[in-house]
Amino acid sequence: MEIRELHKSFGDNQVLRGIDLEVARGEVVCVIGPSGSGKSTLLRCVNLLEVPTSGRVLVGGTELTDPDVDIDAARRRIGMVFQQFNLFPHVTVTENLTLPQRRVLGRGKEEAARVARENLERVGLADKAGAYPAQLSGGQQQRVAIARALAMDPQVMLFDEPTSALDPELVGDVLAVMRMLAAEGMTMMVVTHEMSFAREVADRVVFMDGGRVVEEGPAAQVVGDPRHERTRNFLNRIL
Ligand code: ADP
Ligand code: MG
Repeated sequence: MEIRELHKSFGDNQVLRGIDLEVARGEVVCVIGPSGSGKSTLLRCVNLLEVPTSGRVLVGGTELTDPDVDIDAARRRIGMVFQQFNLFPHVTVTENLTLPQRRVLGRGKEEAARVARENLERVGLADKAGAYPAQLSGGQQQRVAIARALAMDPQVMLFDEPTSALDPELVGDVLAVMRMLAAEGMTMMVVTHEMSFAREVADRVVFMDGGRVVEEGPAAQVVGDPRHERTRNFLNRIL
């Protein structure tokens, strides 16, 4: 994935001020930074949930920001997991996984059901297939949201603070699923405040502030021995 000179403004508010970032196939990049620094906007621009003001986003060699590109097809390459799980509340866990496959990918009933089953097993929730979202804990709901994204066969997974809305005792199960994905070689961009996850799992950590990448490098360096004052201040506040 390549992000080139990405700018995004909302009116006069310049939120992204020229982001350049690459994520290699199979790489896990954690994005950290203070509230309001533009992390969510960056992910939303990568996924074209927001239209960048200028700049380019490429995934697997296809430029998503090319005006001639089929946006829906391009977006299918990218799975996104939000802080709020955004499950469909009125259908079962299985249907949360099968409906998007059928609507967006045009898969038949049986194939969609099989893929749903496989992915619920991957996140350890095969026994909740018939449950409704409200019957699950937050951590289980987030794992369903991850399984739903995986069922679409994404090339890249984007996570926006996936554990921030969870009670502390539920965070570990979600991080464990993300660790498994990383170990399987999934390409991932993860906005998170979980520094231990960043340290253990991320190939690279990117520190953003004021709509710019201030510092990036191996997790041990950026989190353990930051070069920039702003990174140090941020880490001192959260650690
Ligand atoms: P972070 O995720 O790092 O906390 P965000 O990307 O959510 O930061 O927000 C960065 C800035 O962009 C904030 O000032 C926010 O108010 C602004 N912003 C984000 N989304 C919108 C929007 N849809 N319309 C207007 N302003 C927005
Ligand atoms: Mg955010």
